[in-house]
Amino acid sequence: MSKHQSCLVLNAGSSSLKFSVFRQQAAAGNLNAILTGQISGIGGAARFEAKDADRRQLADHSWDDSEPMPREKLLRFALHWIHEHLVDDEIVAAGHRVVHGGKEISAPLRIDAAAIDALEALVPLAPLHQPHNVAAIRMLAEIYPELSQVACFDTAFHATQPWQARTFALPKELSDEGVCKYGFHGLSYEYVTHSLLAARPELANGRIAICHLGNGSSLCAVQAGESVDTSMSFSALDGVPMGTRCGALDPGVLLYLMREKQMGLEEIEDLLYRRSGLLGVSGISNDMKVLQETDDPDARKAVELFCHRVAREVAAMAAAMEGIDALVFTAGIGENSPAIREMISRRLGWLGVQVDAARNAGRQFEISAADSRIPVFVVPTNEELMIAKHTLAVLNPGVGHA
Ligand code: AMP
Repeated sequence: MSKHQSCLVLNAGSSSLKFSVFRQQAAAGNLNAILTGQISGIGGAARFEAKDADRRQLADHSWDDSEPMPREKLLRFALHWIHEHLVDDEIVAAGHRVVHGGKEISAPLRIDAAAIDALEALVPLAPLHQPHNVAAIRMLAEIYPELSQVACFDTAFHATQPWQARTFALPKELSDEGVCKYGFHGLSYEYVTHSLLAARPELANGRIAICHLGNGSSLCAVQAGESVDTSMSFSALDGVPMGTRCGALDPGVLLYLMREKQMGLEEIEDLLYRRSGLLGVSGISNDMKVLQETDDPDARKAVELFCHRVAREVAAMAAAMEGIDALVFTAGIGENSPAIREMISRRLGWLGVQVDAARNAGRQFEISAADSRIPVFVVPTNEELMIAKHTLAVLNPGVGHA
């Protein structure tokens, strides 16, 4: 019996590597996730976990941190496990989530030596993430030289933004050398846009504000199916507060910290990326669910500040599009927290947003009240599926994947 053709999707972070395997159902052209998992705790006490399509645990293997396992050995372990486990499948391609495509790369990229060099050259734009993405591509190329690989970018969906959205009010030379707004979460916005427009084709030319609210959060203004503005900019720090990231901050604060507190680069980086956001304001947790389950006044403040800033940013997206025809919530918080959706929507009543309490609590696809001027939707995101679709489309041009 011939094997199923499957696509491996990798999302390599600083201390984790998430993976999924999508199987092509040949006749229908569908892609189904048959396996998901991750290696966490890389550099310390590493752990390998894998689940099947029904989220049943298939593997859970831990290493102690007395002698941390090198990243490459962990990847080899995961690939070997996948190979042994998926006896009916042949992995024919690998798609990678890559954070930065810079100014030039606006579409998924087939990996070869020149492509790896191009991704490497973008490390200065995303020093905390890009090196891990590139390392995973290199390692896979070494382990499976015959495997076709494709890089899919968080920035690419935003390449359609007009110059006004992309440009900082800095001297022209800096803009010309790439100090400008890029935007992130693009694979999520692309997937959510496709899903929404498939269900509501009448919005194809509409102005849609999408709130991707997860551990990392941002918003995107999508007009006629294309990104025209977004809240993250040069780095994934800008925009709304996140789990541990600060969101938009007066640059004067950085000057103050450097001048008055003699804080150096690494200390500031740690403060802005890992000690701010929901964690910094609450002093309790970066996890929205945890904060919503406590009565602590600082936890409440963190939640309120988050909702206030997201609502403000929705209005900014509406201004960028000169109007708004739909509001969408997605990602961990956006998909799972009716209370947060309600608190944000309440602040947008003046814009014509009204959420129906029962639909919101029931997490229906459309959660707006019957008389809401703006329809409001909850659309689950699936960045991994978007990557698998892109990967197979790059390798098999002309073949559609539902
Ligand atoms: P993500 O990065 O998209 O996986 O989202 C992670 C965030 O979603 C964390 O802050 C979680 O606390 C949050 N989250 C997941 N489920 C819920 C829930 N039921 N209520 C509130 N927040 C949630």
